Amino acid sequence: MAPRQPLIAGNWKMNCNHLEAIALVQKIAFSLPEKYFAKVEVAVLPPFVDIRSVQTLVDGDKLLLKYGAQDISPHDKGAYTGEVSGPMLAKLGCHYVVVGHSERREYHGEDDKLVNAKLKAALKYEITPIFCFGEKLDVREAGGHLELVKQQLTDGLAGFTAEQVAKIVFAYEPVWAIGTGRTASSSDAQEVCAAVRALVAEKYGEDTASTVRVLYGGSVKSSNIGELIAQKDIDGALVGGASLEADEFTKLCALA
Ligand code: PEP
Repeated sequence: MAPRQPLIAGNWKMNCNHLEAIALVQKIAFSLPEKYFAKVEVAVLPPFVDIRSVQTLVDGDKLLLKYGAQDISPHDKGAYTGEVSGPMLAKLGCHYVVVGHSERREYHGEDDKLVNAKLKAALKYEITPIFCFGEKLDVREAGGHLELVKQQLTDGLAGFTAEQVAKIVFAYEPVWAIGTGRTASSSDAQEVCAAVRALVAEKYGEDTASTVRVLYGGSVKSSNIGELIAQKDIDGALVGGASLEADEFTKLCALA
């Protein structure tokens, strides 16, 4: 079985216009030596309006950086004002799309059923979904985090085959750690990432479980990435705030 290649994905959230995006991508891509990209995969996930600019830059300069979007419509086309479809993202060459981020769940009422439909839409157009899930603080404090994560995974993956699940990147993002500066300890993060892999093994087989990448997200920085990525079941990170600073992000990538 081939070793899992680490993935560091920068979720820019609603930051950077297209000109700022070009500057940030250039700084990131040119700060990392070419040989680095053979070891670790690095992706940026800018707002929709930046993607065309990022694509032009990546294609034109043959950058080894990957890119993607932060959301996807479950529909292919039609009267869905404000939404962006899988075919549109595929046409822009998106490698990845974030699905089920806690900010979408919290501010846009996304539930596991919609997350399931969005995962399907991404896979249909051969865009790798980064499937986010994780518990809020009250659930963690009550000790219900493993149970909740298992439920989110079971519902999010309803109706999927092992072949489809093998194409998904999983991202455990405890809500209490996102944008708060409070990171899960590496052992707490490992506990959940191992449980994710165990659930995938139980439902989709050992081969699938040993193939899929499981990321941790929540206040990841250059100061904590080393410890997190050293964990057996953590294959990289989904990075928010720290991905907006080229120096910090590339330092973090270099330590992954
Ligand atoms: C995120 O938005 O996915 C995230 C992990 O944010 P931050 O790194 O800022 O906590």
